Amino acid sequence: SSDSTPIRATLFPGDGIGPEIAESVKQVFREAEVPIEWEEHYVGDQIDPRTQSFLTWESLESVRKNRVGLKGPMATPIGKGHRSLNLTLRKELNLYANVRPCYSLPGYKTRYDDVNLITIRENTEGEYSGLEHQVVRGVVESLKIITRQASLRVAEYAFHYAKTHGRERVSAIHKANIMQKTDGLFLKCCREVAEKYPDIKYEEVVIDNCCMMLVKNPALFDVLVMPNLYGDIISDLCAGLIGGLGLTPSCNIGEGGIALAEAVHGSAPDIAGKNLANPTALLLSSVTMLRHLELHDKADRIQNAILSTIAEGKFRTADLGGASSTSDFTKAICDHL
Ligand code: NAD
Repeated sequence: SSDSTPIRATLFPGDGIGPEIAESVKQVFREAEVPIEWEEHYVGDQIDPRTQSFLTWESLESVRKNRVGLKGPMATPIGKGHRSLNLTLRKELNLYANVRPCYSLPGYKTRYDDVNLITIRENTEGEYSGLEHQVVRGVVESLKIITRQASLRVAEYAFHYAKTHGRERVSAIHKANIMQKTDGLFLKCCREVAEKYPDIKYEEVVIDNCCMMLVKNPALFDVLVMPNLYGDIISDLCAGLIGGLGLTPSCNIGEGGIALAEAVHGSAPDIAGKNLANPTALLLSSVTMLRHLELHDKADRIQNAILSTIAEGKFRTADLGGASSTSDFTKAICDHL
């Protein structure tokens, strides 16, 4: 964009390795002259009664106001009387879709070298509604909730994503042969949305067959959209196809167009503060944030610098079999910009 006023974005460095990998993102953004002004928010050390969590109301307001943010891993303190940080963010910001681009990193060898797919997971209902109870002793029930509203919303996002990102096909993943009502409704909503996007091919794939196809030939897939539980499992399966959680970016989409990008890994307490963490997942997540803002030039430049640094192989962190520190790896990326 030619507009020179910086875009304000919320940054949660998070816990453990969070501040180290967030520093890496800040450094790369400075070097690439990305027009973003970070508004940093830390997790508090006391419960904010307005959020019932260690996340403050001001932090949430910052994301609501800026509509865009980046989040490092957060370790929820153990104890009673508060909500988990990730749950608070998801509920308060109504983060209804989790989007994970998954593509083979050139030069980083895995079993597959042609993965290029996107998983889009419904993030608010399904088996994760938290409605479980005992009917009588020895019999429990868990309610899987599927609503037309949430299904249409995530399907709409998937087709919109496909259209705006030059993707050709959306596959709805389901088990409607068994879960006729719930997954049946999910599929019905996907079909309705598909009709509005005649240029995008639409198909329906049963989850078990989908798993088999993914490990046999992941190149068969383009954009996948699915209910919560299937998305939880399939998105990690896909992360495994390209080398693991340390490399996989993600972005959460919320009501009203909020985008909160985050790495999918945790706070890695075992290596925190040692300058050993791999910042790739958070960096690639920040790239998804730039794409959401349609800053595609900056996104391409940063993504290419990350990929060529990894491909070159001179600077890699320990998790990728190298011996570089977080800061040396980051510097190498800056040199590639
Ligand atoms: P973890 O992802 O933190 O660590 C698992 C293993 O992967 C560790 O050996 C760690 O060193 C390694 N690892 C993870 N990220 C890495 C990176 N960027 N570079 C190099 N190595 C990396 O998972 P865990 O140990 O199960 O969880 C630790 C804490 O993180 C817990 O408090 C958990 O609640 C939290 N967590 C937060 C999120 C989130 O905020 N989205 C996600 C998962 C776990």
